[in-house]
Amino acid sequence: MASARDEQLERPDRPEASAWHALPAEDVLGSFAAARSGLSSEEARRRLAEHGPNSLPEPATRHPLLRFLAQFDNALIYFLLAAAAAAVAIGHHVDAAVIVAVVLINALVGFVQEGRAEEALAAIRQMISPQATVLREGRRRAVPVHELVPGDMALLEAGDRVPADLRLVRARGLLVDEAALTGESVAAEKDERPVEAGAALGDRRCMVYSGTLVLAGQGSGVVAATGSATEIGHISRLIGSVQQLTTPLLRQIDHFATRFTWVALVGSALLFAFAVLLRGYHWSEALMAVVAVSVGLIPEGLPAVITITLAVGVRRMAARNAVVRRLPAVETLGATSVICSDKTGTLTRNEMTARQVVTPAGRLEAAGSGYAPEGGLAEEGGGSVAASLPLLQSCVLCNDAELHEQAGQWSVNGDPMEGALVALAMKAGLDPAALRRGWPRLDEIPFDAQHRFMATLHQGPDGEIAIFVKGAPERLLAMAARQAGPDGGEQPVDHRFWTEAIASAAAEGERVLGFAAGRLDKAPERLAFGDLDGSLVFLGIVGFIDPPRDEALAAIAECRSAGIDVKMITGDHGATAGAIARQLGLAEAPEVVTGSALDGLGEQDLRALAKRAAVFARTSPEHKLRIVQALQQEGQVVAMTGDGVNDAPSLKQADVGVAMGRKGTEAAKEAAEMVLLDDNFASIVAAVHEGRTVYDNIQKVIAWTLPTNGGEALAVIAAILFGFTMPMTAAQILWINLVTAVTLGLALAFEPAEAGVMARPPRRAGDPLLSPFLLWRVVLVSLLFTGAALGVFFHAQSRGYDLEMARTLVVNTLVVLEIFYLFSVRYLNMTSITLKGMLGTRSVLVALTVVILAQLGFTYLPVMHALFDSRPVAIGDGLMILALGVALLLVLEAEKAVLRRAGVIGRRGGRVVSTAPAP
Ligand code: ATP
Repeated sequence: MASARDEQLERPDRPEASAWHALPAEDVLGSFAAARSGLSSEEARRRLAEHGPNSLPEPATRHPLLRFLAQFDNALIYFLLAAAAAAVAIGHHVDAAVIVAVVLINALVGFVQEGRAEEALAAIRQMISPQATVLREGRRRAVPVHELVPGDMALLEAGDRVPADLRLVRARGLLVDEAALTGESVAAEKDERPVEAGAALGDRRCMVYSGTLVLAGQGSGVVAATGSATEIGHISRLIGSVQQLTTPLLRQIDHFATRFTWVALVGSALLFAFAVLLRGYHWSEALMAVVAVSVGLIPEGLPAVITITLAVGVRRMAARNAVVRRLPAVETLGATSVICSDKTGTLTRNEMTARQVVTPAGRLEAAGSGYAPEGGLAEEGGGSVAASLPLLQSCVLCNDAELHEQAGQWSVNGDPMEGALVALAMKAGLDPAALRRGWPRLDEIPFDAQHRFMATLHQGPDGEIAIFVKGAPERLLAMAARQAGPDGGEQPVDHRFWTEAIASAAAEGERVLGFAAGRLDKAPERLAFGDLDGSLVFLGIVGFIDPPRDEALAAIAECRSAGIDVKMITGDHGATAGAIARQLGLAEAPEVVTGSALDGLGEQDLRALAKRAAVFARTSPEHKLRIVQALQQEGQVVAMTGDGVNDAPSLKQADVGVAMGRKGTEAAKEAAEMVLLDDNFASIVAAVHEGRTVYDNIQKVIAWTLPTNGGEALAVIAAILFGFTMPMTAAQILWINLVTAVTLGLALAFEPAEAGVMARPPRRAGDPLLSPFLLWRVVLVSLLFTGAALGVFFHAQSRGYDLEMARTLVVNTLVVLEIFYLFSVRYLNMTSITLKGMLGTRSVLVALTVVILAQLGFTYLPVMHALFDSRPVAIGDGLMILALGVALLLVLEAEKAVLRRAGVIGRRGGRVVSTAPAP
């Protein structure tokens, strides 16, 4: 197994690094002056100052100059630069300079905005920077991975990325995927025994290395190397690369731009030939005309504005606790038609309180709320604390959570349900710390969503060896041989009694957990599944309440109006899941399907069931994967939540994988497109809302940009075809494009959501960006622009104005029309003539101010007269142009009204994208 990397270990400058795996764990702890209970915070701070942060050098970002040059690497820009060269060749230096200036300004705006977008994305990524669990002062603490120091005691569980190089001091069923380091695809089994000094990296079973992934089990280890001193640091292979600012939509637009450029090129050549051969233009004059057409046609600002629109969306999602890890998710979110969500913590608050204990002797009812061990227990139906003692003890012993009190506030460190069990035991008067001291834990089988229980092995105060088990009650009942008798003895398991007790608690929405215990003659070295068979005594059940999140209730209602199906997929009991689903308004009488019912189904049946049912209970991660696939085969766009290491496949399979930021494992976060900072279902719906808004805004940007280009180009083409003087020069056309695209166009990137954005069905995944309706709108507005521009041009000439003045009026007309059209486009299919619509937003007003100032400059500044051949416009003419703008707005409003009445655009707040009737 020796490899080049192993040889590196033998390098003389790292003599110490190869030694840890050959030493007993205690010696390694000694070498680091560390203890199994971890370092003190003080000492950790000191070591952090000495060794530096546990991080690798940032991956190199592109040099700013390269990033700037990349702005020019675009077919549209090549074309413009070619046009500038043509202008120089025929002595039109001013035109050439203007073209170059436009290209430069465009590149600069793109460079600055893209840089800001990348910075914002990097800052957003920081929001989900990984955490590690360590022991400090003997207590579990979550700390940022970069704060780990040599000697720290780090804890590992399934789904964790190993945060540093660790010498294991304890390993239980620990399986690690080391492919990131060794390329070995088979998971490595780990334990704490030392190996030979000469063992190759992949054979050092007592070491785990930074960047590898824990697939199963639990363990703890002392940090032996951090940052660049780790193995991954030495081979300087960086995990995670710089995210590119690109999405399928952007690529589609780039592709479109390239094709468009070729069409423009061929069209220009034909137009050139037509002008010279049939219209008798001088070739240089024809060339300038053709340059004018092509610069008019090219939407050079579009790609930058769309990138910015996406980045704005990502920022808005982050502000609503949904962190997008991969940009394409922003688009996909807007098309989401089904959201499959976990229950615990996502739809419910994950603030557990144990409500009742049921033992064969009777019931105990717990008062109080939260984790405060106050409120006491009421004894009912023969139940008593004394009779429930074995169960209450296992609540504490088969448990990894701790409760803390600070300023009267109780909080849990660890699993909330386990925290609630500690609080329950304290309400019964037990002292968890004393109990744990008296019953030291020898070994355990950690909880796993697959087998749904956890077991611990203890030595009691009298030397007795005991096993405590807690888990899904039906699972424990299946394993138990007997049940505890009311008088302390044992009796046969009363399955009917328990089935009824579980059903009645679950019907209230309570989460039910079962408890069992067993005795062994002597302690095995390792607790194995076999030790549980046949020897367990069922002790009873505990029912917890975990109230639904209020926001989830509202979010589910929002999904309903937005035509999005919500499905609950949970590991919990069917009856509990059904009751919570009812409380959440997921369905009146939700159909609850259990995981085992899915097992035997064929593909067709599974598809039908996945579509129909709202609640899936007692599911395993494999079931999640099958449900996503079935829904996708039904043509749905699926968002799926997950948190465990085994959820990674379904998160990857889903169109939008959503990981929990708080309770999710690193493995789940890395597989997901999006991470929820607050684990809250409502944040998914907020992200869908933003996703739809982004898509709408991109459509608005396009619907606004294209008619400008179309109007300008058509006016010039008409001049060539019909043989009249060009209504604008190439430089003037570029002026219009520049001054409007980086102001008005950009303002659309920041548009807030339209009122009906969540009142229409989701966009179909395959729908083209330009729907027939949008295409019609682009053509109509282009023609209106052309008509107005030519109308003004001829009107000015008929009044005896010179060519320069007529052209200045045309330029002003197009800019004013753009402004009024902007107000129309802000509401694609609702009326724009409302107070809110007219007031605009801050971005719109800023853009408007800039455009108006620029346009006044263009019209009245002498330097502009020299550069662009513009002339000062009289008040009366200015008013006429404004009147044209108002007329355009009114015409488009009339068009919207007619189309709305005809049902072409949405009645319920409106579908923008499709002309098809809503289902
Ligand atoms: P969701 O999938 O909606 O988050 P869940 O938390 O109930 O729901 P899992 O974590 O897969 O899903 O748990 C499945 C079942 O396993 C639970 O209903 C419970 O019976 C049992 N269980 C959960 N956590 C533990 C634990 N720490 N120890 C023992 N059993 C547990």
